Amino acid sequence: MNVFGIVFRGENHKRMDTVTFDKNLWNQKIKGKSLEESLEWVVSQNFKNPCFSTSFGQEDQVITDVIFNHNLPITLFTLDTGRLFEETYDVFSSTMGRYKKPIHSFFPKTDMVEQLVIEKGPNSFYKSLENRKECCRIRKIEPLKRALESCDLWITGLRGDQSTNRSSLSFFEYDSHFNVIKFNPLIEWSLEEVNAYLEKHHVPQNKLHKKGFVSIGCAPCTRAIEPGEDIRAGRWWWETSNKECGLHKK
Ligand code: SF4
Repeated sequence: MNVFGIVFRGENHKRMDTVTFDKNLWNQKIKGKSLEESLEWVVSQNFKNPCFSTSFGQEDQVITDVIFNHNLPITLFTLDTGRLFEETYDVFSSTMGRYKKPIHSFFPKTDMVEQLVIEKGPNSFYKSLENRKECCRIRKIEPLKRALESCDLWITGLRGDQSTNRSSLSFFEYDSHFNVIKFNPLIEWSLEEVNAYLEKHHVPQNKLHKKGFVSIGCAPCTRAIEPGEDIRAGRWWWETSNKECGLHKK
Protein backbone atom coordinates (compact mmCIF):
# COMPACT_ATOMS: atom_id res chain seq x y z
CA MET A 1 0.00 0.00 0.00
CA ASN A 2 1.42 3.41 -0.88
CA VAL A 3 -1.56 5.70 -0.72
CA PHE A 4 0.15 8.33 1.37
CA GLY A 5 3.00 9.25 -0.92
CA ILE A 6 5.32 8.78 2.01
CA VAL A 7 8.78 10.25 1.62
CA PHE A 8 11.17 8.83 4.16
CA ARG A 9 13.11 11.48 6.01
CA GLY A 10 14.63 9.34 8.71
CA GLU A 11 13.56 6.47 10.84
CA ASN A 12 11.11 8.37 13.01
CA HIS A 13 10.09 11.22 10.79
CA LYS A 14 8.06 10.74 7.63
CA ARG A 15 6.14 13.18 5.49
CA MET A 16 2.91 12.21 3.74
CA ASP A 17 0.51 13.83 1.31
CA THR A 18 -1.97 14.72 3.99
CA VAL A 19 -0.21 14.30 7.32
CA THR A 20 3.22 15.01 8.66
CA PHE A 21 4.09 12.20 11.03
CA ASP A 22 6.73 12.90 13.62
CA LYS A 23 6.78 9.92 15.95
CA ASN A 24 8.47 11.60 18.90
CA LEU A 25 6.38 14.74 18.65
CA TRP A 26 3.15 12.77 18.34
CA ASN A 27 4.04 10.56 21.27
CA GLN A 28 4.59 13.69 23.36
CA LYS A 29 1.27 15.17 22.28
CA ILE A 30 -0.64 12.06 23.33
CA LYS A 31 1.06 11.79 26.72
CA GLY A 32 -1.41 12.54 29.51
CA LYS A 33 -4.47 12.58 27.28
CA SER A 34 -7.47 10.41 28.10
CA LEU A 35 -8.36 7.66 25.64
CA GLU A 36 -11.19 9.74 24.27
CA GLU A 37 -8.98 12.83 23.93
CA SER A 38 -6.21 10.88 22.23
CA LEU A 39 -8.59 9.34 19.68
CA GLU A 40 -10.13 12.74 19.01
CA TRP A 41 -6.67 14.20 18.55
CA VAL A 42 -5.58 11.64 15.97
CA VAL A 43 -8.75 11.91 13.91
CA SER A 44 -8.19 15.68 13.79
CA GLN A 45 -4.83 15.10 12.08
CA ASN A 46 -6.24 15.07 8.56
CA PHE A 47 -6.20 11.32 7.96
CA LYS A 48 -8.43 10.21 5.12
CA ASN A 49 -9.55 6.93 6.65
CA PRO A 50 -8.45 6.01 10.16
CA CYS A 51 -9.29 2.36 10.91
CA PHE A 52 -9.50 0.29 14.06
CA SER A 53 -9.01 -3.47 13.93
CA THR A 54 -10.92 -5.39 16.56
CA SER A 55 -10.86 -9.03 17.56
CA PHE A 56 -13.39 -8.26 20.34
CA GLY A 57 -10.82 -8.81 23.08
CA GLN A 58 -10.98 -6.75 26.27
CA GLU A 59 -8.73 -3.95 25.02
CA ASP A 60 -10.56 -3.78 21.71
CA GLN A 61 -13.89 -3.51 23.46
CA VAL A 62 -12.67 -0.49 25.45
CA ILE A 63 -11.64 1.31 22.27
CA THR A 64 -14.84 0.28 20.46
CA ASP A 65 -16.91 1.72 23.31
CA VAL A 66 -15.17 5.09 23.06
CA ILE A 67 -15.28 5.25 19.25
CA PHE A 68 -18.96 4.39 19.02
CA ASN A 69 -20.14 6.37 22.03
CA HIS A 70 -18.42 9.50 20.74
CA ASN A 71 -19.30 8.94 17.08
CA LEU A 72 -15.68 9.23 16.06
CA PRO A 73 -15.06 8.98 12.30
CA ILE A 74 -13.10 5.74 12.51
CA THR A 75 -13.82 2.61 10.47
CA LEU A 76 -14.01 -0.62 12.47
CA PHE A 77 -13.05 -3.92 10.95
CA THR A 78 -12.40 -7.46 12.10
CA LEU A 79 -10.64 -10.45 10.58
CA ASP A 80 -12.87 -13.50 10.43
CA THR A 81 -10.48 -16.38 9.96
CA GLY A 82 -13.27 -18.96 9.81
CA ARG A 83 -11.81 -20.63 12.91
CA LEU A 84 -13.04 -18.32 15.65
CA PHE A 85 -14.78 -19.37 18.86
CA GLU A 86 -18.57 -19.26 19.01
CA GLU A 87 -18.13 -16.94 22.00
CA THR A 88 -16.27 -14.48 19.76
CA TYR A 89 -19.20 -14.38 17.34
CA ASP A 90 -21.48 -13.87 20.34
CA VAL A 91 -19.60 -10.78 21.49
CA PHE A 92 -19.36 -9.55 17.88
CA SER A 93 -23.15 -9.83 17.67
CA SER A 94 -23.83 -8.22 21.05
CA THR A 95 -21.45 -5.36 20.22
CA MET A 96 -23.28 -4.61 16.98
CA GLY A 97 -26.58 -4.87 18.85
CA ARG A 98 -25.52 -2.45 21.54
CA TYR A 99 -24.00 0.29 19.41
CA LYS A 100 -25.98 -0.18 16.16
CA LYS A 101 -22.87 0.69 14.16
CA PRO A 102 -21.13 -1.27 11.39
CA ILE A 103 -18.12 -3.51 11.89
CA HIS A 104 -16.67 -4.73 8.62
CA SER A 105 -15.58 -8.37 8.35
CA PHE A 106 -12.66 -9.42 6.19
CA PHE A 107 -12.54 -13.11 5.33
CA PRO A 108 -9.67 -15.12 3.86
CA LYS A 109 -9.76 -15.79 0.14
CA THR A 110 -11.77 -18.94 -0.53
CA ASP A 111 -9.37 -20.37 -3.10
CA MET A 112 -6.39 -19.99 -0.77
CA VAL A 113 -8.14 -21.75 2.11
CA GLU A 114 -9.41 -24.50 -0.18
CA GLN A 115 -5.92 -25.09 -1.55
CA LEU A 116 -4.41 -25.18 1.93
CA VAL A 117 -6.96 -27.69 3.21
CA ILE A 118 -6.69 -29.89 0.11
CA GLU A 119 -2.92 -30.02 0.42
CA LYS A 120 -2.46 -30.20 4.20
CA GLY A 121 -5.81 -30.80 5.87
CA PRO A 122 -7.74 -28.55 8.25
CA ASN A 123 -5.28 -28.65 11.18
CA SER A 124 -1.89 -28.34 9.49
CA PHE A 125 -0.85 -25.61 11.96
CA TYR A 126 -0.11 -28.19 14.67
CA LYS A 127 2.51 -29.94 12.54
CA SER A 128 5.16 -27.23 12.17
CA LEU A 129 5.87 -23.56 12.72
CA GLU A 130 6.01 -23.10 8.95
CA ASN A 131 2.56 -24.61 8.56
CA ARG A 132 1.19 -22.45 11.34
CA LYS A 133 2.61 -19.30 9.78
CA GLU A 134 1.20 -20.36 6.41
CA CYS A 135 -2.27 -20.67 7.92
CA CYS A 136 -1.94 -17.29 9.68
CA ARG A 137 -0.74 -15.75 6.43
CA ILE A 138 -3.75 -17.04 4.52
CA ARG A 139 -6.40 -16.49 7.17
CA LYS A 140 -5.08 -13.30 8.80
CA ILE A 141 -2.26 -11.48 7.04
CA GLU A 142 -3.67 -11.45 3.53
CA PRO A 143 -7.12 -10.24 4.71
CA LEU A 144 -5.44 -7.63 6.91
CA LYS A 145 -3.53 -6.30 3.92
CA ARG A 146 -6.81 -5.86 2.08
CA ALA A 147 -8.44 -4.26 5.11
CA LEU A 148 -5.61 -1.76 5.44
CA GLU A 149 -5.48 -0.86 1.75
CA SER A 150 -7.81 2.09 2.24
CA CYS A 151 -6.58 3.03 5.73
CA ASP A 152 -3.93 5.62 6.45
CA LEU A 153 -3.98 5.16 10.22
CA TRP A 154 -4.28 1.79 11.93
CA ILE A 155 -5.55 1.92 15.51
CA THR A 156 -4.87 -1.17 17.63
CA GLY A 157 -5.62 -2.44 21.12
CA LEU A 158 -2.02 -3.42 21.87
CA ARG A 159 -0.77 -3.00 25.42
CA GLY A 160 2.88 -2.89 26.44
CA ASP A 161 2.66 -5.54 29.16
CA GLN A 162 1.01 -8.14 26.92
CA SER A 163 4.41 -9.48 25.87
CA THR A 164 8.08 -8.62 25.66
CA ASN A 165 7.60 -7.97 21.94
CA ARG A 166 5.11 -5.26 22.72
CA SER A 167 6.82 -3.74 25.76
CA SER A 168 9.05 -1.47 23.67
CA LEU A 169 6.21 -0.08 21.54
CA SER A 170 5.05 3.50 21.94
CA PHE A 171 1.76 5.22 21.15
CA PHE A 172 2.77 5.74 17.54
CA GLU A 173 4.80 3.44 15.36
CA TYR A 174 5.39 3.29 11.65
CA ASP A 175 4.60 -0.23 10.43
CA SER A 176 6.83 -0.78 7.44
CA HIS A 177 5.35 -4.23 6.79
CA PHE A 178 1.92 -2.78 6.06
CA ASN A 179 3.19 0.72 5.24
CA VAL A 180 0.87 2.44 7.66
CA ILE A 181 1.08 4.54 10.80
CA LYS A 182 -0.06 2.59 13.80
CA PHE A 183 -1.65 4.15 16.86
CA ASN A 184 -1.68 2.12 20.08
CA PRO A 185 -3.75 4.25 22.48
CA LEU A 186 -3.77 1.64 25.28
CA ILE A 187 -0.06 0.93 25.17
CA GLU A 188 0.41 2.22 28.75
CA TRP A 189 -2.77 0.69 30.20
CA SER A 190 -2.68 -2.25 32.58
CA LEU A 191 -5.07 -5.18 32.33
CA GLU A 192 -6.63 -4.01 35.59
CA GLU A 193 -7.42 -0.61 34.06
CA VAL A 194 -8.95 -2.32 31.04
CA ASN A 195 -11.14 -4.51 33.22
CA ALA A 196 -12.17 -1.57 35.40
CA TYR A 197 -13.29 0.36 32.31
CA LEU A 198 -15.28 -2.58 30.97
CA GLU A 199 -17.03 -3.13 34.28
CA LYS A 200 -17.79 0.53 34.85
CA HIS A 201 -19.30 1.00 31.39
CA HIS A 202 -20.98 -2.42 31.16
CA VAL A 203 -19.26 -3.15 27.86
CA PRO A 204 -20.02 -6.53 26.20
CA GLN A 205 -17.23 -9.03 26.77
CA ASN A 206 -16.22 -12.39 25.43
CA LYS A 207 -17.50 -15.01 27.92
CA LEU A 208 -14.24 -16.91 27.52
CA HIS A 209 -12.45 -14.27 29.60
CA LYS A 210 -14.25 -15.60 32.68
CA LYS A 211 -12.93 -19.08 31.84
CA GLY A 212 -9.25 -18.15 31.94
CA PHE A 213 -8.82 -17.00 28.35
CA VAL A 214 -7.01 -13.66 28.25
CA SER A 215 -5.69 -13.29 24.71
CA ILE A 216 -8.25 -14.89 22.37
CA GLY A 217 -7.57 -15.80 18.78
CA CYS A 218 -8.64 -18.78 16.69
CA ALA A 219 -10.29 -21.66 18.56
CA PRO A 220 -7.81 -24.41 17.67
CA CYS A 221 -4.84 -22.18 18.57
CA THR A 222 -5.98 -20.67 21.87
CA ARG A 223 -6.27 -22.18 25.34
CA ALA A 224 -6.99 -20.80 28.80
CA ILE A 225 -3.99 -19.86 30.94
CA GLU A 226 -3.22 -20.65 34.56
CA PRO A 227 -2.79 -17.89 37.17
CA GLY A 228 0.71 -16.45 36.84
CA GLU A 229 1.21 -17.64 33.28
CA ASP A 230 2.25 -15.17 30.61
CA ILE A 231 -0.73 -13.43 28.98
CA ARG A 232 0.20 -14.83 25.57
CA ALA A 233 0.96 -18.33 26.86
CA GLY A 234 -2.40 -19.61 25.66
CA ARG A 235 -1.71 -18.72 22.05
CA TRP A 236 -0.01 -21.51 19.99
CA TRP A 237 0.86 -23.11 23.31
CA TRP A 238 2.66 -26.01 21.62
CA GLU A 239 5.25 -23.62 20.16
CA THR A 240 8.23 -21.83 21.66
CA SER A 241 7.79 -18.98 19.16
CA ASN A 242 7.32 -15.33 20.15
CA LYS A 243 3.51 -15.86 20.13
CA GLU A 244 2.80 -13.44 17.32
CA CYS A 245 0.86 -14.25 14.17
CA GLY A 246 2.49 -11.62 11.98
CA LEU A 247 -0.19 -8.95 12.35
CA HIS A 248 1.99 -6.90 14.63
CA LYS A 249 5.55 -7.09 13.44
CA LYS A 250 8.13 -4.77 14.90
FE1 SF4 B 1 -4.68 -20.63 11.42
FE2 SF4 B 1 -4.33 -20.92 14.07
FE3 SF4 B 1 -3.30 -18.80 12.74
FE4 SF4 B 1 -5.95 -19.03 13.16
S1 SF4 B 1 -4.32 -18.74 14.72
S2 SF4 B 1 -4.97 -18.39 11.29
S3 SF4 B 1 -6.23 -21.26 12.91
S4 SF4 B 1 -2.73 -20.96 12.53
